[in-house]
Amino acid sequence: MVSKTPLSLPVFNGNENLYTQQAIASGQIATSGKFINRFEVKLSKRLKTHESVALNSGTSALHLAMVLFGIEPGDEVICQSFTFCASANPIVYLGAKPIFVDSEKDTWNICPDLLEDTILSRIAKGKKPKAIVLVHLFGMPAKMKEILDISTKYNIPVLEDAAEAIGSKYQDRDCGTFGQIGVYSFNGNKIITAGGGGALISNDTSVIQHARHLSTQAREDLPFYHHLEIGYNYKMNNLSAAVGLAQLEQLDNCVKSRRAVNQRYRTMLKDFPGINFQTESIESKSNYWLTTILVDQEKTGFSNKQLKQALSNRGIESRYLWKPLHTQPIFNNTAYYGGNMSEKLFAKGLCLPSSANLTLQNQEMIVEVIHEELSKTFK
Ligand SMILES: *Cc1c(COP(=O)(O)O)cnc(C)c1O
Repeated sequence: MVSKTPLSLPVFNGNENLYTQQAIASGQIATSGKFINRFEVKLSKRLKTHESVALNSGTSALHLAMVLFGIEPGDEVICQSFTFCASANPIVYLGAKPIFVDSEKDTWNICPDLLEDTILSRIAKGKKPKAIVLVHLFGMPAKMKEILDISTKYNIPVLEDAAEAIGSKYQDRDCGTFGQIGVYSFNGNKIITAGGGGALISNDTSVIQHARHLSTQAREDLPFYHHLEIGYNYKMNNLSAAVGLAQLEQLDNCVKSRRAVNQRYRTMLKDFPGINFQTESIESKSNYWLTTILVDQEKTGFSNKQLKQALSNRGIESRYLWKPLHTQPIFNNTAYYGGNMSEKLFAKGLCLPSSANLTLQNQEMIVEVIHEELSKTFK
């Protein structure tokens, strides 16, 4: 059955048509053309202190970032366990070993205390981790101050997987700009999209230049094809950049709308027993890419699974939270530090429809289904 209320849809009410037509008219839809540069300039301007390279996915941006960090076979890289597999897969591409760390209960992101324990434990075992991959899950900023203090104390660089968090802020600064390298995704289901795409950002011009070079097969500036390094075919194409630029122009509007959707859910479910939300600290502002709830079955009388089914029966799409990577078959026998926080979140959580153009009517219907489930339980 086609879902009447999808989880998350892009909204195209800006210059998407105009720019793609211009890109096609220019005859350049591949990896050269003016929209790639315009996209990068627009993104860099927004970030003020940082420059950006437009790439063909968030995953390739993460991979390049790890190449730039010099991750090599046998190295260890710390990674938040509660995330999408793309945060950790590039560690494996490079022959290195992920070391997974559990989340804390407020933001659901990597727990700073466990992070420090992990670093100390790995050093004691004879290997200092080469990098820390942290994620701002569903757009919610991680505890950056605490994490950056640890990164500085042990001199381990941070790779900020801000794939879900473009437009989120921490201490009034854009998420993605705190680590040595930050990464965004412009995949189709993210808060803004380029069809498919990603970006690597840094405030170090030499890192950006190197990333750009590696993303185009590391081709030297010579009249013939000459290569001094192994490169990648990771650059964004001009057609995607045309869509991406138009979407970037709408980013603030999208964040505003998604935050409004989130606020309405909170208000509507305020007095509902056993439904809880991810929480912002006073220093953070989430883009609320997806509104996520925890269903406490002891209080609601129904589980996240039952609620998912009830919503689905009414044509409403919802989705479980990310299944922690330390519980994934592909990461069997991978070191893990923590308790069962992320597993508990996964067991209780549900992502609710969060499109920027979700109507009030649709949202009321979603809340109504939740109320119906409750009344069924206590009938
Ligand atoms: C979407 C996502 C990615 C990967 O981005 P793609 O553009 O799909 O390759 C990486 N990390 C997280 C946390 C994501 O949500």
